[in-house]
Amino acid sequence: MRVLVINCGSSSIKYKFYEMAREKLISKGAIERIGEKGSPVTNHRQGLKLILKAVGRVEAIGHRVVHGAEDFREPTLINEKVIRKIRECSRLAPIHNPANLEGILACKALLKGIKQAAVFDTAFHQSLPPRAFIYGLPYRFYRQDKIRKYGFHGTSHEYVAYEAAKLLRKNISQVNLITCHLGNGCSIAAVKNGHPIDTSMGFTPLEGLLMGTRSGDIDPAIITYLVRKKKLSPEAVDEILNKESGLKGISGISNDMRKITLAAKKGNGRAKLAIEIFIYRLKKYIWAYLGVLGEADAVVFTAGIGEHRPEIVRGACLGLFNNLRVKPKVMVIPTDEELMIARQTYKLVKKI
Ligand code: AMP
Repeated sequence: MRVLVINCGSSSIKYKFYEMAREKLISKGAIERIGEKGSPVTNHRQGLKLILKAVGRVEAIGHRVVHGAEDFREPTLINEKVIRKIRECSRLAPIHNPANLEGILACKALLKGIKQAAVFDTAFHQSLPPRAFIYGLPYRFYRQDKIRKYGFHGTSHEYVAYEAAKLLRKNISQVNLITCHLGNGCSIAAVKNGHPIDTSMGFTPLEGLLMGTRSGDIDPAIITYLVRKKKLSPEAVDEILNKESGLKGISGISNDMRKITLAAKKGNGRAKLAIEIFIYRLKKYIWAYLGVLGEADAVVFTAGIGEHRPEIVRGACLGLFNNLRVKPKVMVIPTDEELMIARQTYKLVKKI
C-alpha cells in the first residue's frame, strides 16, 4: 500500500511517501514559504497538488495533527465528525491545528475516496492518570476550559518506545521506559507497560525541560511579575518564554547546541552554564520518572541532541543508576515520526 505522510505547517508542507508494509521510503520532500510574498505557491491546496503530481498513485494518506485534546486517544480515520473535532481543538493549538486541517481539506478535495488518517501528537499521552494531568488550579479550569497537561511529541515517544521494546526483545506491553526527545523542543515521558504515565510538556509545549528557545519550568509568578513590574504585554511575555529563553536566552549565543558546545569549548562561561542547566534539569526529570516508574528497563534518547550529543546523554546519566537494583540500559534510537504515522495509517486503512 502506497502511503503518503503529510505534515502541514502554517507556511510549509513536508511529506514522505512509503510503500507499506515493507516500510520502504519511496520519496520525500517539502514545499516552503507557502503564501509568502514572491512565492509561486499561494496556498496549501496548490502545494499539495504539486506533491501529488510528484509522487504518483497514492492509496492512503496520514496527517500529523498537533492537538487532539481529550477527543482522540489514538490515530483515527478522517470523516466529517473528525474534521469538526479537529477544528474544535484549534482553540488549544491556534497555530498548528488550522494548518493541519488545511492539508486534510485540500487532500479531501483533490483525492476523493482515498482514505485519510489523523495521527495526533497528544494521543500517546492520553493514558496519563488524573494525578499526572490535573494542575493545582481550581478544578473548574479543567472542567470548563480543559486546562490540563496534554503532552506533546507523542508520535516520537511512541516510535522510540516500540523500537526500544524490539531491541529489548520484549512486547511493548512489558516494558517500562523513560523516553527523552531532545531536539529544539525537548520532552520526556515515563512509559509504564507501553503507555505514558507522565510527561514533561503540559497544557502547551512550553512546560518541562530546558529547550532551544523555550524556558521549560519556571515559577508562574514570574509571569505576573513581568506583566506588572516590567509592564510587558501578554504577547511580549509569550514571545520571551517561547522564543528568547532556554539555551538561547541563557547562553546569549544561539538555540543550537552545536554552536553552544563550540563556544563552551572556547571557554564561554554562559555557554557552559546553559549546557550545565540543560543537563541538570534533564537529570532531575529522569530521576523523578525513575521514582514514578519504580523500575525502568531503559532510558532512551532521541532527536537532534539525543542522537548526536553523547556528552549530554553521558552527563544526564552519570552516577544516576549507581544505587539501583535494576540498572536501566541507556539507548540512543533515531526517531522517525513520519514512519510511525505511515505505520498507523496503514494499520487503520488495512482493517477496512
Ligand atoms: P531537532 O529539533 O531534532 O532537529 O534538533 C535540533 C537540536 O539538535 C539542535 O540543538 C542541534 O544543535 C542539535 N543537533 C542536530 N543535529 C546535530 C548533529 N549532527 N550534531 C550535533 N548536534 C545536532
